[in-house]
Amino acid sequence: MIYEAIIIGGGPAGLSAALNFGRGMRHTLVIDDHNPRNQVTDESHGYLTQDGIPPRLFRQRAANDVTKYKHVKQTDDRVIEVTKKNNLFYVATKNSSYVTQQVLIATGLRESLPNIDNIEAFYGKSVFYCPWCDGYEMRNKTLAIINPTQAIMHLAKIVTNFAKEIILFTDGTDVLDQAEKQLLKKKQIPLYHQKVIGMKGQDGQVTALQLENGVEVPIEGAFTYVNWDTNFDFLKSLPIERDETGKFKVDSLGQTSIPGLFVAGEAKESFAGQLIDAAANGGMTAKMMMMQQFEKEFTK
Ligand SMILES: Cc1cc2nc3c(=O)[nH]c(=O)nc-3n(C[C@H](O)[C@H](O)[C@H](O)COP(=O)(O)OP(=O)(O)OC[C@H]3O[C@@H](n4cnc5c(N)ncnc54)[C@H](O)[C@@H]3O)c2cc1C
Repeated sequence: MIYEAIIIGGGPAGLSAALNFGRGMRHTLVIDDHNPRNQVTDESHGYLTQDGIPPRLFRQRAANDVTKYKHVKQTDDRVIEVTKKNNLFYVATKNSSYVTQQVLIATGLRESLPNIDNIEAFYGKSVFYCPWCDGYEMRNKTLAIINPTQAIMHLAKIVTNFAKEIILFTDGTDVLDQAEKQLLKKKQIPLYHQKVIGMKGQDGQVTALQLENGVEVPIEGAFTYVNWDTNFDFLKSLPIERDETGKFKVDSLGQTSIPGLFVAGEAKESFAGQLIDAAANGGMTAKMMMMQQFEKEFTK
């Protein structure tokens, strides 16, 4: 069988797209390997009607909504290659292969944490990257901000809103100018340039950062940088155009430079957002994809 659309990724972007495809009665397959970035955390915040929901329950509920629509199938598998021939896409997975007219990349981001000993033990529990997602839960604490770029000042402004006290760590760089350093001094905000080499604490609660010069700085939580990209191996056979930052070039419908290949959610932004943004974008992109199908069918 030839699917009308295959969605790679069953997070909020992919499942919101799937819900719309189901309601549009389009033969659709969702392929997801259940390895989302937010699985390290216990609660998701800020999604209207779902505030505080465990990420796994959010996904289960979203998948249940989609199950009602018989045109959509969901499979637990990993996409390993996508190729295109004669206007059709061939999607190879670990366990099978499929053919489809359109593909939606809804894979989220590929994430890697900074090279700090033990960070995995605290990431998603008391160490986060997004103050809009988790700042409220970290309120009234002494919070580290770890970031080796100019963005550290931007984060300082946001995290100050939540914290009792902030401490800045530029992790081996000296990115701030004199005016910024003076402002921090005036506000009595400590600034460390040394590399952060480790985290200490227990049961997910970070209690100190270890610096390369042997100093330990006590903290009660942290917002750290993480690294993201969308250079997925399964896209290697497709000559997709990207901008200078590596972001997919897309038109106003969310279509990449390959006709019929769309992208939604965090993969589209090439930057982390929130569940509600990903879901909204997935739903809208599915409608744009269906519109492309309807145009073809109506005018042929
Ligand atoms: C620690 C942490 C805390 C967060 N807290 C919040 C919060 O409180 N509130 C909030 O709104 N947001 C929060 N977020 C952000 C939120 O998780 C994302 O914005 C959202 O999940 C992005 O949705 P998405 O559908 O684009 O991608 P994802 O949810 O990442 O889903 C992508 C899916 O694609 C699958 N996939 C990837 N590649 C393949 C492949 N080759 N084959 C098959 N499947 C594949 C993945 O396994 C995954 O299931 C948090 C994120 C993290 C990491």
